[in-house]
Amino acid sequence: MNNVIFFGPPGAGKGTQAKIISEFLNVSHLSTGDILRKKLLDEDKLANELKEIMSAGNLVSDDILNSIVSSTLKRELSKGFILDGYPRTLKQSDFLNKFLLESSASIHYIFNIVIDFETLKTRILKRSSEENRDDDKLDVIETRYNEYINSTQKVSDSYKDKYSNIFYEIDGSLQIHEITEKIRQILKNS
Ligand code: AMP
Repeated sequence: MNNVIFFGPPGAGKGTQAKIISEFLNVSHLSTGDILRKKLLDEDKLANELKEIMSAGNLVSDDILNSIVSSTLKRELSKGFILDGYPRTLKQSDFLNKFLLESSASIHYIFNIVIDFETLKTRILKRSSEENRDDDKLDVIETRYNEYINSTQKVSDSYKDKYSNIFYEIDGSLQIHEITEKIRQILKNS
């Protein structure tokens, strides 16, 4: 059983890798972005609020995310899971640590996909035309990237300090299959 966290800016390919690796490890893929996008379909008051926040490229509140993650993780603890897009703030990582401690669970691997902003911009625009996502427009990319730099990078840095023995930096400019291979090698050799 393995529990994994993927970090990386929007467009780094963490969702793609998280999906492939979840199948390889036979664990659940928990993408908070996907869960939130599903909630948008409800078209209720919460969905309208979420739509406004997400389409502007801002982060949804920690309380909403922590509640989504704790209820979902409870079901997945026995199988193992990959967290994709969470934790994104220090408040979320504090919540996750507490949740794991109380559940006698821990994280076994952390992968941080590193990529520069220019490469990201090109990738996100390509995805925008393929997936028709509201938040993949050029003017929103910068906000999303800034959210990553201002909030999420602090979280991945703190994990890098605290869990250096299970923290792996991956070059996100490589081809999808090359990244997958690197991750699989790490999983095999440790
Ligand atoms: P993603 O698909 O992971 O890029 O997420 C898409 C959008 O969902 C983000 O830009 C945020 O608006 C929201 N979101 C996803 N995960 C989180 C999170 N952990 N904390 C806050 N907002 C999130």
